[in-house]
Amino acid sequence: MTNERQVFFFQGDTLLLPAETLETQTDSLETLFVPSEFANAVCAKEFKNADIFETPSLDQNTMIAGVSVPLDTVLPSDWKAIPIRQILTMSAESGKPFSHILRVSHIAKWRQDSRFCGTCGSRNADVPEQEHRQCPNCGRLEFPRICPAVIVLITDENKILLAHNKRFKEGVYSHISGFNEAGETLEETVVREIREEISIEVKDIEYVKSQPWPFPNSLMVGYKARYASGIIKPDGEEIQDARWFTKDNMPLLPSKGSLSRALIDEWLSV
Ligand SMILES: [Zn+2]
Repeated sequence: MTNERQVFFFQGDTLLLPAETLETQTDSLETLFVPSEFANAVCAKEFKNADIFETPSLDQNTMIAGVSVPLDTVLPSDWKAIPIRQILTMSAESGKPFSHILRVSHIAKWRQDSRFCGTCGSRNADVPEQEHRQCPNCGRLEFPRICPAVIVLITDENKILLAHNKRFKEGVYSHISGFNEAGETLEETVVREIREEISIEVKDIEYVKSQPWPFPNSLMVGYKARYASGIIKPDGEEIQDARWFTKDNMPLLPSKGSLSRALIDEWLSV
């Protein structure tokens, strides 16, 4: 790791930081990274089994560094772990995107699953200054895996349709969502997921916006659609309840920082 890099430490879905940094940065969150000189010393002493890597920033203007600490490593007492979902909430509140964190977190997890070539089984090698890895034996390139998933804001006149998924906290309602399947357009995913999960049909499907969602490797793609026909019937597996809500009668909502919440907030504000 060379000097003057922003270094981000991760352990699973948490960002690791010295407690001292957190205490002084709780308002601005400008420095959620560790300076490289200090990072080098910490890796040599405390995180010997960590995966240390560098990747170009999205604008390609700089290299950013990541340190992926194994899940079974006990943190030194003067370090703290912040859930990355909490950082998304902070990001929404501060208006700052923190895109480096989402990018490096995604790559840190992908690196755990891409150590060996999928064609010949040789150990993949890092490619300097590049995001991808390459097999030194057969030349196969390995890029970070990104799995698109749709979420859909469904409306009918002044009502919004929200559902309680069994994975949600009690009382929380959000959009119908689901992963894109091989050979399927995202618009087809929208229609299929809604049909499978709540048995209704929609029309006027339109893309709204997207959000990287590195838990572990999704891209959430936000759509809106209007109710067309059918009677709501939750599938009873993923979806335990689904119903219409009006602006003056909303349920508990997902945390700020998620695309699902942003879509709902936009609808509420109109
Ligand atoms: Zn190979």
